[in-house]
Amino acid sequence: MLFKPTFWLKNVLAINEDFLKENDVHALVLDMDNTLSMHGNPRAEEGVSEWLDKMRELGIKMRVVSNNTNKRVAPLAAILGLEYTANGAKPLPFGVNRAVKAMGADKRGTLVIGDQIFTDVIAGNIAGVRTVLVEPFHLEKTWTFRLKRKLESVVFHRNYDDLEMK
Ligand SMILES: [Mg+2]
Repeated sequence: MLFKPTFWLKNVLAINEDFLKENDVHALVLDMDNTLSMHGNPRAEEGVSEWLDKMRELGIKMRVVSNNTNKRVAPLAAILGLEYTANGAKPLPFGVNRAVKAMGADKRGTLVIGDQIFTDVIAGNIAGVRTVLVEPFHLEKTWTFRLKRKLESVVFHRNYDDLEMK
């Protein structure tokens, strides 16, 4: 099912050593906006930087694939010490495929992590990589964003007040 994430988690901070081991994960393809940082915010959310360090300690390979522009993605990726692809064109799978290759990872041991079904989850599913849908750190207030969320909640019965925790 193209729209269905493999896992639903509160946010990236919920991904820990146990979860990675249980699911045999060695590499992460990370969305940026609302997954590592609030949309447009030049800083990462609290705890994200420490979480990335923890992932590195565990030997997890990581790379950002964002649909946002280089201008947005480059500065934060630099702060966080992450390689990245900007203008990732998700839900097309090419950015994910490139990232897996660039990390020297294999698809079976990789997760695509993001906050949007219509971009992150579909891209991962088309690429044949398991996906994690996370709750955005902050819900955006723009009408296009709200419309997309509304659509997600109607079509996929996604409930933002009570996300299933795995
Ligand atoms: Mg996002």
